[in-house]
Amino acid sequence: MKLVKIIVPCFNEQECIKKMYEKVKHVFDSMPDYEFCILYIDDGSKDDTLKEIIKLLKLVGKRRVNYLSFARNFGKEAAIFAGLSNLGNADLVALMDADLQHPPELLKEMISEIENGHDCCGARRISRNGEPIIRSFFSNLFYKVINKVTSMQLVPGGSDFRVMTRQVAEAIVSLTETERFTKGIFSWVGFDTQWIEYENCERYAGTTKWSFGGLMRYAISGFMAFATTPLRAVIYIGLLIVMFSFFYAIYVFYHAVKNPTGRTGYSSIILLLLFFGGFIIMLLGIVGEYLARIYMEVKQRPIYIVKSTNVEEKEE
Ligand code: UDP
Ligand code: MG
Repeated sequence: MKLVKIIVPCFNEQECIKKMYEKVKHVFDSMPDYEFCILYIDDGSKDDTLKEIIKLLKLVGKRRVNYLSFARNFGKEAAIFAGLSNLGNADLVALMDADLQHPPELLKEMISEIENGHDCCGARRISRNGEPIIRSFFSNLFYKVINKVTSMQLVPGGSDFRVMTRQVAEAIVSLTETERFTKGIFSWVGFDTQWIEYENCERYAGTTKWSFGGLMRYAISGFMAFATTPLRAVIYIGLLIVMFSFFYAIYVFYHAVKNPTGRTGYSSIILLLLFFGGFIIMLLGIVGEYLARIYMEVKQRPIYIVKSTNVEEKEE
């Protein structure tokens, strides 16, 4: 019997907990060689998510349901990290959303891909039904840019729905940065990943936790976590401006010699002042963003804080 640990980050998902357990159980009923254990990560939910988890735990026992409850909302990335850090004696690890947007039926195929020798199997959405067009547009743009300018290769539509070997899970956890961009980390650690495709579906209950602004911030911080390209761009833009001003200086000098009187340059000076003022502040902002990240990382704060759990503390 192999044990598959299913890590499920939950933030205000009270309606989904039980339903998702039942669906997963149904899938595993048809796989006699595998046992499953769901590890719910309650990411500081404000609703009855934790109560629902404990209710389920009492019903089915701790062989089937484990949970970690955070002291506050630390975000999905932190929840994934917490799950992967508490694997117990699992042989395989699955990552899944609570809202059933990741169809549990796929688990069977994904696990068989691992049996075929792949280290990791991810699910890729081939349609974006039920998603605003503008979100799809920016999401596609994000993948294009990030694949171009960073060393990461992200698969468009590649979700966090994955099954992996324990070895991959341990590699992921060995990257301890606080600002976590799991999609990028998966690509960074390497290993042989197989993708299977699925149709996007609507969530079972509740609403998405992502606002448009939130997604934007996620995209930018994901980009910055893996690229120093903006810093290099700053150098090139600076060089370009220096070159331009050099030629402009020659031009001005030439005209000053040719026409020593009658030079009024008030508006152009103001314009240039404004332009360079704004430009320099922008460059400082870019540098500052990276500096802020360094500052957050050197603090070495824990990625999550557990308030309550039924998982024994792992040995450090
Ligand atoms: N989630 C979480 N912490 C958060 C936000 C989301 O654990 O701060 C969980 C959420 O409960 C769900 C999963 O991450 O299981 C995906 O979230 P959601 O369905 O809102 O994202 P979407 O499917 O719209 O991308
Ligand atoms: Mg969802």
